[in-house]
Amino acid sequence: MWLKDAPNPDEINFDLLKKPDVPIPNEQQEKMKRFMDYWDRIITASSPFPRQDYNMPLIGDHPCSIPRENLQNTKQELADLLNWVETHTKCMPGYCLVKRKVPGHQEPQAVCRFDYPMQLRRDAGIGLDSKHRCKFEPRCNDPLMNPFNTPMILGWRANIDIKPVLSKFAAIDYIAKYASKSEKEAPAFPKLLASVANSMDGDRMAQSACQKALNKMLGERTYSAQETVHLLLGIPLVQASVTFQTIYTGTDGGYQKLAAQQGDAELGAFLGDDENLVTDDSWLQRYMKCPPDMESLSLQDVLSTYSWRKLKWCKKRDTMKTVLHVYPRFSPQP
Ligand SMILES: [Zn+2]
Repeated sequence: MWLKDAPNPDEINFDLLKKPDVPIPNEQQEKMKRFMDYWDRIITASSPFPRQDYNMPLIGDHPCSIPRENLQNTKQELADLLNWVETHTKCMPGYCLVKRKVPGHQEPQAVCRFDYPMQLRRDAGIGLDSKHRCKFEPRCNDPLMNPFNTPMILGWRANIDIKPVLSKFAAIDYIAKYASKSEKEAPAFPKLLASVANSMDGDRMAQSACQKALNKMLGERTYSAQETVHLLLGIPLVQASVTFQTIYTGTDGGYQKLAAQQGDAELGAFLGDDENLVTDDSWLQRYMKCPPDMESLSLQDVLSTYSWRKLKWCKKRDTMKTVLHVYPRFSPQP
């Protein structure tokens, strides 16, 4: 989330805090103070009624089961909600417990990679995490409380982790990590496809194998829950400022039309009326069907400035940029 008027972390050299004996210039101190004051008003880990004893089970109705019309957003409601959804009560192997070298110990120790329990803090500040990286530390009166924003948690009523971004590189790292993270439990794709192929009759088509593999991936949670919901609701998984066009220029398939085998019911349903055709014209074939007034255009020109709609080439809007992917990739030194 981007906040207008928030202090720009790029102007602050947080690394100065890593060297306690080097004096910090006044101008930097002021910027850091502004940063901390600003985020102190937005993020806290202080409960209005901090939990006294973590061994006492939470009693009463789960705050998330209370009908919305009965909620009054009182401090007690906030405290109850925080206790149920916003505390790091259990460190678990495979989730947050990692083995790390800890000073004073010969053997690596199991520690929480989120650094819980936290130190209590009367005031917000910038501290260092266990990997010696700078982080914003909100006011904290409960060592297991996740940092939260009061209106957000009262509205969302489920766990939210919130922290200010201290550098654009941290933000890029975070996004890249999640964008490239695969489901841990998922078997490798070749393994999955092999298990499907081995259980099929030899005369089935590759398409049914692919469909079965996809079904298996969905059934076995290869897709994350968010991704599945996006797919079900028809929400695009990515948005790009450009469109992509892929072209295959290999000699062994770029020109081919393949005939379907008769009698494949799944395929028939998929193809509708045109059941003899498995593949449509290739992009090269479409290019060769250019009308005379497009004859001076190269393959690249056509694919990046025209789109193929209703069996003919239509000029794209000028604002639409197209990135061409060409396969196979030829070696620059053949
Ligand atoms: Zn933990």
